[in-house]
Amino acid sequence: MCYGLNRDDSIKKGQIAHLDGNRDNNEPANLAFLCFDHHEEYDSTTSQSKGLQRAEVEQYREELQRHFGSWSLNSGREALLNFLAFVADLDAVAEAVVMIT
Ligand SMILES: [Zn+2]
Repeated sequence: MCYGLNRDDSIKKGQIAHLDGNRDNNEPANLAFLCFDHHEEYDSTTSQSKGLQRAEVEQYREELQRHFGSWSLNSGREALLNFLAFVADLDAVAEAVVMIT
Protein backbone atom coordinates (compact mmCIF):
# COMPACT_ATOMS: atom_id res chain seq x y z
CA MET A 1 0.00 0.00 0.00
CA CYS A 2 2.86 2.36 0.84
CA TYR A 3 4.25 1.84 -2.63
CA GLY A 4 0.94 1.92 -4.44
CA LEU A 5 -0.30 5.05 -2.73
CA ASN A 6 2.92 7.00 -2.15
CA ARG A 7 5.57 5.26 -4.26
CA ASP A 8 7.29 4.66 -0.95
CA ASP A 9 9.58 1.65 -1.48
CA SER A 10 11.65 1.94 1.68
CA ILE A 11 12.07 -1.04 4.00
CA LYS A 12 9.09 -1.47 6.29
CA LYS A 13 8.27 -3.58 9.28
CA GLY A 14 4.90 -5.21 8.87
CA GLN A 15 2.85 -8.35 8.73
CA ILE A 16 1.34 -10.76 6.26
CA ALA A 17 -2.33 -9.89 5.89
CA HIS A 18 -5.04 -12.39 5.00
CA LEU A 19 -7.07 -10.50 2.43
CA ASP A 20 -10.30 -12.42 3.02
CA GLY A 21 -9.91 -12.13 6.79
CA ASN A 22 -9.61 -15.92 7.15
CA ARG A 23 -6.36 -16.74 8.97
CA ASP A 24 -6.52 -20.35 7.79
CA ASN A 25 -6.54 -19.41 4.12
CA ASN A 26 -2.83 -19.31 3.33
CA GLU A 27 -3.12 -19.41 -0.44
CA PRO A 28 -0.56 -16.97 -1.90
CA ALA A 29 -3.36 -15.08 -3.65
CA ASN A 30 -4.92 -14.40 -0.27
CA LEU A 31 -1.75 -13.03 1.31
CA ALA A 32 -0.16 -9.59 1.13
CA PHE A 33 2.63 -8.00 3.13
CA LEU A 34 1.33 -4.79 4.67
CA CYS A 35 3.08 -2.34 6.98
CA PHE A 36 1.55 -2.17 10.47
CA ASP A 37 -0.40 1.01 9.69
CA HIS A 38 -1.91 -0.29 6.48
CA HIS A 39 -2.60 -3.71 7.98
CA GLU A 40 -4.59 -2.08 10.74
CA GLU A 41 -6.39 0.11 8.24
CA TYR A 42 -7.17 -2.90 6.05
CA ASP A 43 -8.47 -5.01 8.93
CA SER A 44 -10.66 -2.21 10.26
CA THR A 45 -12.24 -1.64 6.85
CA THR A 46 -15.86 -2.71 6.80
CA SER A 47 -17.89 -3.27 3.67
CA GLN A 48 -19.65 0.05 4.23
CA SER A 49 -16.57 2.19 4.70
CA LYS A 50 -14.38 3.54 1.96
CA GLY A 51 -11.14 2.28 3.44
CA LEU A 52 -8.74 -0.07 1.74
CA GLN A 53 -10.41 -2.49 -0.63
CA ARG A 54 -9.13 -5.93 -1.49
CA ALA A 55 -8.88 -5.14 -5.22
CA GLU A 56 -6.76 -2.13 -4.39
CA VAL A 57 -4.37 -4.21 -2.27
CA GLU A 58 -4.10 -6.82 -5.04
CA GLN A 59 -3.32 -4.19 -7.64
CA TYR A 60 -0.61 -2.54 -5.56
CA ARG A 61 0.86 -5.93 -4.63
CA GLU A 62 1.31 -6.57 -8.33
CA GLU A 63 2.84 -3.14 -8.95
CA LEU A 64 5.30 -3.72 -6.13
CA GLN A 65 6.23 -7.13 -7.52
CA ARG A 66 6.95 -5.55 -10.89
CA HIS A 67 8.92 -2.76 -9.23
CA PHE A 68 11.17 -5.19 -7.34
CA GLY A 69 11.05 -7.97 -9.88
CA SER A 70 14.50 -7.08 -11.10
CA TRP A 71 17.52 -5.31 -9.83
CA SER A 72 20.31 -3.81 -11.91
CA LEU A 73 23.89 -2.92 -11.08
CA ASN A 74 23.05 0.70 -11.75
CA SER A 75 20.65 0.82 -8.83
CA GLY A 76 21.99 2.24 -5.61
CA ARG A 77 22.71 0.52 -2.32
CA GLU A 78 19.28 1.41 -0.96
CA ALA A 79 17.58 -0.18 -3.96
CA LEU A 80 19.64 -3.34 -3.48
CA LEU A 81 18.69 -3.59 0.19
CA ASN A 82 15.05 -3.12 -0.70
CA PHE A 83 15.28 -5.75 -3.40
CA LEU A 84 16.87 -8.22 -0.98
CA ALA A 85 14.30 -7.47 1.69
CA PHE A 86 11.58 -8.15 -0.85
CA VAL A 87 12.91 -11.45 -2.20
CA ALA A 88 14.47 -12.86 0.96
CA ASP A 89 13.40 -13.33 4.53
CA LEU A 90 16.14 -11.25 6.13
CA ASP A 91 15.26 -12.37 9.64
CA ALA A 92 15.70 -16.01 8.60
CA VAL A 93 19.00 -15.15 6.93
CA ALA A 94 20.20 -13.36 10.07
CA GLU A 95 19.23 -16.36 12.20
CA ALA A 96 21.08 -18.70 9.88
CA VAL A 97 24.17 -16.52 10.06
CA VAL A 98 24.05 -16.55 13.86
CA MET A 99 23.72 -20.33 13.83
CA ILE A 100 26.80 -20.92 11.66
CA THR A 101 29.06 -18.40 13.38
ZN1 LIG B 1 1.96 0.85 4.33
